[in-house]
Amino acid sequence: MTEKKDYIDIDLNLKNVDFDRKFSTFLKEKRQEHQESKQPFCTACAYNQFKDLKEVTIKNLSRRTKEIIGNESELNIKVDIAKYEDPSYFKLKGERKIMEKRIMHGTPTFVPIWFLDYVCKEFGHGYSIQMEQEEYDQWKKSPKSKK
Ligand SMILES: [Zn+2]
Repeated sequence: MTEKKDYIDIDLNLKNVDFDRKFSTFLKEKRQEHQESKQPFCTACAYNQFKDLKEVTIKNLSRRTKEIIGNESELNIKVDIAKYEDPSYFKLKGERKIMEKRIMHGTPTFVPIWFLDYVCKEFGHGYSIQMEQEEYDQWKKSPKSKK
């Protein structure tokens, strides 16, 4: 026998409301996009805000009575992505070079790989951008590197 309740249960595992899966896919794509454009993006901040908003959304929805039936669009969680990808949200902590072994024309060769280590100013989360030598040289010449 199931007990009758006067509030709505929000099951995060509902097929259409799988917040976590949707959001991690979104973050993965964002990270990829930012590695390609060589711009920092704070995955940790975006994820933390998502977690906070999700908690509030779920709480509010679970407090509603059955009179108010939500639709799926109300379950959209709007994370402030633009903030976490704004270059002014970061400071460049350092640059690193490592030598990576690659096989070129059948011969093992060491090539330099550069890392720009950024941290977000608000919480100090790290985000590193990987660059080949030419990309690094280009970046060094651009005004972005002067920050
Ligand atoms: Zn952060």
